[in-house]
Amino acid sequence: MPQKVISIKQAARIAAPAPRYDGAQPADARGRPLRDLRISVTDRCNFRCTYCMPREVFDADYKFLPHSAILSFEEIARLARIFVGLGVKKIRLTGGEPLLRKDLPLLVAMLAPLGADLTLTTNGSTLVKHAAALRHAGLDRITVSLDSLDDATFRAMNDADYPVEKVLDGIGAAADAGFSPIKINMVVKRGVNDHQVVEAARYWRDSGHILRFIEFMDVGSTNGWRMDDVIPSAEVVRRVSEAFPLEPVEANYAGEVAERWRYRDGAGEIGVISSVTQAFCAGCNRMRLSTEGSLFTCLFAHQGHDLKRLLRGGADDGVLRDAIAAVWRAREDRYSEIRTAETARARKVEMSYIGG
Ligand code: SAM
Repeated sequence: MPQKVISIKQAARIAAPAPRYDGAQPADARGRPLRDLRISVTDRCNFRCTYCMPREVFDADYKFLPHSAILSFEEIARLARIFVGLGVKKIRLTGGEPLLRKDLPLLVAMLAPLGADLTLTTNGSTLVKHAAALRHAGLDRITVSLDSLDDATFRAMNDADYPVEKVLDGIGAAADAGFSPIKINMVVKRGVNDHQVVEAARYWRDSGHILRFIEFMDVGSTNGWRMDDVIPSAEVVRRVSEAFPLEPVEANYAGEVAERWRYRDGAGEIGVISSVTQAFCAGCNRMRLSTEGSLFTCLFAHQGHDLKRLLRGGADDGVLRDAIAAVWRAREDRYSEIRTAETARARKVEMSYIGG
């Protein structure tokens, strides 16, 4: 079904503030509230990052979802509104590469009036083209992934021969459009880009942007994860601190995933995301909506809950709300707390599908 062509102004008019849910906002089986929603808007990406969408698997024969299977903007906006009514305060658009989804600023304009903090994670490759429109449509914040400033290392990691320079241009365009601070995600893999940790810190210090180091995770079943390839965040903090002394900073809010550290000389801050060595399941308040409308209660899940069937079967908002709340209430996940070499080999849904 082709996406309807509407203007950003029309899109903003269609959306209305989310209704408040009169019933109690759901807590899951471990008492965690629902606060954060990640929406995957496409399972496609123009990069083939070796730790995420290895080219041997995501090759020319790989069957990505057909357009008819993926949620339309109207469907996404309707569900997002229900989620906000259930207590969601933050929505992140992701993928795959979210900016490959045609007319994404229209979706942003439909979601912005819901009043949640609206953010996007991108590889930055098309930000020069889209940053101003995204800002104009009401996007609050942007995170850009950039794993190395060394061109050869970066091209090898994205496996699409994509140069660092163009991502830096995209970050510049986002800053010019008014996004600040921009978060820069760097996945650190031993022997691949860990020699770039201090260089990255040096480059982004004093830039006004926030570099975040992410531990290499065993997402999906295709990235060949091994514990030996993980650089623990504690080691990253030690290496950066030896060059530029750091001190810890309080979390911005309960359940914040990144642990914050600031430079003692006032040159800004970094974050570390330690899903492997310091599991943060106890504070995890995140639900994921996959590209084709399934709900996932954990990044490491192997199975979702089909919401699209209800949505396309004519369910009203109350039925959808109750279905979402029921999935959340039954949630027990704490994968990162129980990870072993064996669980890491188990079948899990791919990050590009579920939304990173
Ligand atoms: N295409 C967008 C991008 O590149 O940012 C959004 C999707 S991507 C899956 C979201 C984030 O997940 C990126 O920062 C990426 O580096 C991170 N990521 C992907 N696979 C990962 C893994 N195995 N371990 C840690 N982070 C990973």
